[in-house]
Amino acid sequence: MTTIFLKPHKEESLKRFHPWVFSGAIGRVLLDTTHKGDAPEEGELVAVYSAANEVLGVGHWQVGSIAVRILAFGVEQLPKDFWRERIRAAYRVRQTLGLADVQRDNVQSTKENNTFRLIHGEGDFLPGLIVDVYAETAVIQAHSVGMHVCRKEIAEAILAEVPQVQNIYYKSDDTLPFKAPIEGEKTGWLVESQKTASLKDKSRSDEFWSVENGLQFRIDWLRGQKTGFFIDQRENRALVERYANGKDVLNMFCYTGGFSLYALRGGAKTVDSVDVSQKAIDLVNVNVAKNFPAATNHTAVAADAFEYLSAQKAQGRTYDLIILDPPAFAKHRDAVKNALRGYQRINAKAIEMIRPGGILFTFSCSQAVDKEAFRLAVFSAAAQVGRKVRILHQLHQPQDHPINIYHPEGEYLKGLVLFVE
Ligand code: SAH
Repeated sequence: MTTIFLKPHKEESLKRFHPWVFSGAIGRVLLDTTHKGDAPEEGELVAVYSAANEVLGVGHWQVGSIAVRILAFGVEQLPKDFWRERIRAAYRVRQTLGLADVQRDNVQSTKENNTFRLIHGEGDFLPGLIVDVYAETAVIQAHSVGMHVCRKEIAEAILAEVPQVQNIYYKSDDTLPFKAPIEGEKTGWLVESQKTASLKDKSRSDEFWSVENGLQFRIDWLRGQKTGFFIDQRENRALVERYANGKDVLNMFCYTGGFSLYALRGGAKTVDSVDVSQKAIDLVNVNVAKNFPAATNHTAVAADAFEYLSAQKAQGRTYDLIILDPPAFAKHRDAVKNALRGYQRINAKAIEMIRPGGILFTFSCSQAVDKEAFRLAVFSAAAQVGRKVRILHQLHQPQDHPINIYHPEGEYLKGLVLFVE
């Protein structure tokens, strides 16, 4: 196996279980004899040692400023049964959370929940890997070539350890480094059951339903964003349900309508769902029809958020409760400044349209924008509009998106619930 020796004193963060080795920390690379080139191959397993020859761990090599992502500390090879053990440990956490007690024969008929994130990258000690479970289907997303190379072993381990899973779909076309030399398909079924095999059109995933807190969602992982659904808002959606009774609600950036369904169940007077994507709006309508076939108080509109809010304001429209859950405005550190301006602008527009005594749920899922910076952007928005605003709740990602305490970078979702006078 290829061995990496760090420069002197560069082993400290690895000894504190931070899983990244930066390229600048590397002193020497000792390639194993099978190599033709002069550098490790992206995705290969490498052993990492300190300058003083102590074993630090084993991980996946990647090209870029993070050169190795450690999978196991203090060993030079992956232990036997590594994947099964990691997946079993992650599944146990979800069982402890009460999210994953569904068995194979009742996965379809569960009344409560069969939807959860099984693997949250570094938060589950598997850097570069995301796995979401929707009823009988797991969707795997690789963010590193190393995880792509291991996808079949990972799928086998999930099938062996998670009783409700019968199908496994692989979806990594948007998440793998696009310049990397990648062998094999980046999307497609890794494990199929009779149900998926009998689908006439293999590219259809729209016959699959998932249950979250008793609400049914059609999950289209194939054409949908990310793995098909934003599981990370589960708890925050449930909070919207508590505030929705009798209110006129706007769910901005609604995607498949998660917050809208909870608002409807919570007794909202009216719910408007808005998203720029017509495909998302089609899904919202399907989901509302499935859960509330008699509802006449829901409207879904495909529109740009900024344009919609301006147009509604011009007509004097106001709301009692607005949800703002935009996509990550900052995908990288260097985009933070613009992102903060974006958050300020959209929040100011929303606060303006809230009736006195109304509520704003506002979120940021940009990892590069931290809690304080986001709060400052929302503060600036409130001040700009000149409304009296108090913070009722400070929200975050749910427990099935755990943050590895040694890897604080895993914290990304933050939200505020504001009372606007
Ligand atoms: N709240 C959703 C997740 C939102 S993801 C949930 O609970 O599932 C962000 C959404 O914002 C995506 O669906 C994307 O299509 C939409 N979006 C992106 N840019 C937009 C814009 N300018 N105006 C309106 N919607 C936008």
